[in-house]
Amino acid sequence: MSDYDYVVVGAGTAGCVLASRLSEDPAARVLLLEAGAAEPLPEVAIPPAWPALLTSSMSWGEVTVPQPGTGGPVPLPRGRGLGGSSAINAMTFARGHRTSYDAWVEAGAKGWGFDDLLPYFQRSETAPGRDPQVRGTTGPLTVAPATPVNPVIAACLEAAAEIGHPRASDVSGGLDEGFGAADQNVVDGRRQSAADAYLTPAVRERPNLTIITGALVHRLLIERGRCVGAEYSVAYAQPAPVRCAGEVVLAAGAIGSAQLLMLSGVGPKQHLRDVGVDVALDLPGVGGNFHDHPTAAVAYSAHRTVPQGNSNHADAFGLIRTDSALDAPDLQLLFVDVAQVAEHGGYQGAPANGFTIRPSVMLPRSRGTVRLAGPEAGTSPNLDPNYFEDDYDIRTMVTGLRLARDIGRAKALDSWRDAELAPGPDLDDDAELTTYLRTTMISYCHPVGTCKLGTDDLAVVDLDLRVHGIEGLRVADGSVMPSLPSANTNATVYAIAERAAHLIRTASH
Ligand SMILES: Cc1cc2nc3c(=O)[nH]c(=O)nc-3n(C[C@H](O)[C@H](O)[C@H](O)COP(=O)(O)OP(=O)(O)OC[C@H]3O[C@@H](n4cnc5c(N)ncnc54)[C@H](O)[C@@H]3O)c2cc1C
Repeated sequence: MSDYDYVVVGAGTAGCVLASRLSEDPAARVLLLEAGAAEPLPEVAIPPAWPALLTSSMSWGEVTVPQPGTGGPVPLPRGRGLGGSSAINAMTFARGHRTSYDAWVEAGAKGWGFDDLLPYFQRSETAPGRDPQVRGTTGPLTVAPATPVNPVIAACLEAAAEIGHPRASDVSGGLDEGFGAADQNVVDGRRQSAADAYLTPAVRERPNLTIITGALVHRLLIERGRCVGAEYSVAYAQPAPVRCAGEVVLAAGAIGSAQLLMLSGVGPKQHLRDVGVDVALDLPGVGGNFHDHPTAAVAYSAHRTVPQGNSNHADAFGLIRTDSALDAPDLQLLFVDVAQVAEHGGYQGAPANGFTIRPSVMLPRSRGTVRLAGPEAGTSPNLDPNYFEDDYDIRTMVTGLRLARDIGRAKALDSWRDAELAPGPDLDDDAELTTYLRTTMISYCHPVGTCKLGTDDLAVVDLDLRVHGIEGLRVADGSVMPSLPSANTNATVYAIAERAAHLIRTASH
């Protein structure tokens, strides 16, 4: 006798969408399991307070293994609690440029191009004032740019235009290039996490939806090639099984989903043997293809006070091509309303009065791994995004620093700019800027790729997100992206989860 029809593991961005959409069918009994707490910390609701959450109880608090490309470990926060990373993230809401999804199709993920994803992007959002042909009008998320945009960021936008960059009409929509104010997950001055938008009080009261928080999933139950449930523990109790008649959906994120598959014996067999896990299925791609966006700072002090509003500190960005001959935009330049001077290998130092322009290589080529450190669920996995392993990434970031400086030095910023604090005017040649990047980069916190969708030997899920070789098991979160979209990742995870819910509901009828 099974307790549930669907068990969703992880209540982050994707898990909240799945639990909400699957329980729309009153006949479906849905269980949502989340390791973190039910109640958010007070800072979650306050948009500018998000940096305080990175080292709070709502983050897993992990760092990468030492990175040869940076000279040390790099903090890699990820959310823990209802809403997952959407409850601690920086709230920028943007689709990647359409070319970055069409690249998935070229890599074998047929049916996952921008046009295929568009209905699911739209289903997730209400974007007032944007083009309704492209953007959603009735979705649970309400997204919009900050109004007004912080004046120093407005000056950054003018500076970009002054030196010839185009203005984007909708920089969050996936079709435009250039600079503009980005949508944010802020509604009436408060953050709107996935839990706020999708697990509304009415949804939580559904009799067919059970949400258990503080529930660490230890492993999946796999019997004769079929996933029939999961084993989880609350607090310090012994792990208990829960059985599932329909499907288990892994939504534990790019780190958690790969970790759970491997803890359940699904992964590269030699690695599983090395760490003492019995092999259920040799699936060599699990935990591979791990990658992330690196970011770095060009920071300026200001000679007058930069006002601080109630937004996420980063009201606008540009998506551009570092070379006009490229067939896709490859660099984001993010405008920030404080001066962020990085500390080696750590989080940003205390912000000063000023502003920052942050380049990030959008289509990085470096790839690493998530691997188990041991056979127990409570042990943090070894995270190796392998930053800057591919020289292309560092070269693009050096170009990005120079492009950021071109904007920072433009006339439109004369009335704000005081001194360049970082990298500092003395650092100018490629070697100096490369060293600066290696020693000061931080994670943009966009890990993806560890359970990639596709049909090649290293694909983990098929084009309907079903785990290759295991019945009754899908993965639907950031881990399935074959490669990063050219944007912050959250909007894309919402679309993936909306599509997963649709696939699951269609399959059950
Ligand atoms: C600090 C930070 C800033 C970011 N800023 C932005 C931004 O501004 N814009 C943007 O677009 N993106 C941003 N991102 C990225 C974005 O938030 C993520 O890509 C997205 O939320 C990932 O969604 P997910 O569902 O894949 O995973 P998550 O939202 O991370 O959810 C996974 C959930 O699974 C739970 N879980 C994991 N393992 C287990 C287990 N064994 N048992 C039970 N539960 C488990 C976790 O606790 C978590 O709640 C940021 C991320 C971070 C961390």
